[in-house]
Amino acid sequence: MGETGQQSDRVEAMEQTKTCPRCKVTKSLALYAKNKTSRSGLSSHCRECTRKGWSRSRVRSRSADSRAAQAEAKRRDAVLEQDERATAAACKRLAATTAEALGR
Ligand SMILES: [Zn+2]
Repeated sequence: MGETGQQSDRVEAMEQTKTCPRCKVTKSLALYAKNKTSRSGLSSHCRECTRKGWSRSRVRSRSADSRAAQAEAKRRDAVLEQDERATAAACKRLAATTAEALGR
């Protein structure tokens, strides 16, 4: 009378589990992605963490990435150049005023 559900619960309890080192949650092995390169044949982190990790560190397509990197480098160069010029100008001014003050 609808009591058969208990047996499947017991089978589930016997299922192998693994604690994810990232979220520290013990999950069924079914919740771990397969990974041929690992010794256990399973990914060391649970699917959820693996997915999260991937989406965070996902590498953009190479062309878009290099274009962005180039733009970033250009921007940085321009800022540095401006910075250097401003610093040099400030130094000259300071040196001039210092020389004036000393030369008195
Ligand atoms: Zn996890």
